[in-house]
Amino acid sequence: MRKQVIAGNWKMNKTHTEAESFIREVRNNVPFKGDVESVVCAPFPFLQKLVEETMDSNVEIGAQNMHFEEKGAFTGEVSPVMLRDLGVTYVVIGHSERRDIFGETDEIVNKKVHAAFDHGLTPIVCVGESLEQREADETMNHIESQITKAVEGLTDEQVTQLIIAYEPIWAIGTGRTASSEQANEVCAHIRKVVEKLSGTEAAEAVRIQYGGSVKPANADELLSQSDIDGALVGGASLEADSFLKLVEAGK
Ligand code: PEP
Repeated sequence: MRKQVIAGNWKMNKTHTEAESFIREVRNNVPFKGDVESVVCAPFPFLQKLVEETMDSNVEIGAQNMHFEEKGAFTGEVSPVMLRDLGVTYVVIGHSERRDIFGETDEIVNKKVHAAFDHGLTPIVCVGESLEQREADETMNHIESQITKAVEGLTDEQVTQLIIAYEPIWAIGTGRTASSEQANEVCAHIRKVVEKLSGTEAAEAVRIQYGGSVKPANADELLSQSDIDGALVGGASLEADSFLKLVEAGK
């Protein structure tokens, strides 16, 4: 039985004060030993405070990106060692905004996934097609290619620990959600690809989230699909009340 994982992706939002009041409300209201994992992926400057505030709670803290090297002359970058040292436990890798705006390639994504595992962080690897690719019937091939490159060189055991977020680019921040059937169809395909690459055990264990305009009103239906094991949520994760409803939907 796979445990659902609800991850909020704040992107470049909130002040320190807002982050603090959000996390206190969430921390105090998320069930301690729930059968759902809740993760808040926040901007770097808030991570230390958020980790401190969520000690002994059922909320984990994630970063939204990192460099793949441990240290060195990479001005402005943050390393996996630094994240782990702070107590961060998850990291989003290859979000479509990073791929599109910051030129992150499949090769870089693969290096980051390896670096995350090397340093005890759980990677949430994002994949997804553009509207043009969907309309040209290229979704499944594109997703297969992204997954294949992302997991290259990982052991089957590492793949078991991976979280994959299926995020159709046309549904991110647009208010346009993939229907639950569309989302589940691609998530089921992702599981088949994982099975082909890493075996049945890994395919059954790997958790596959859906992301793209998830909100409390559509979460129940999406999360009840057979191959959807959680959600990666941008806009609707910014308010504590809404994030808590999403966690509740994941139970
Ligand atoms: C995201 O940031 O990964 C995302 C899915 O955003 P939104 O929920 O706002 O579409």
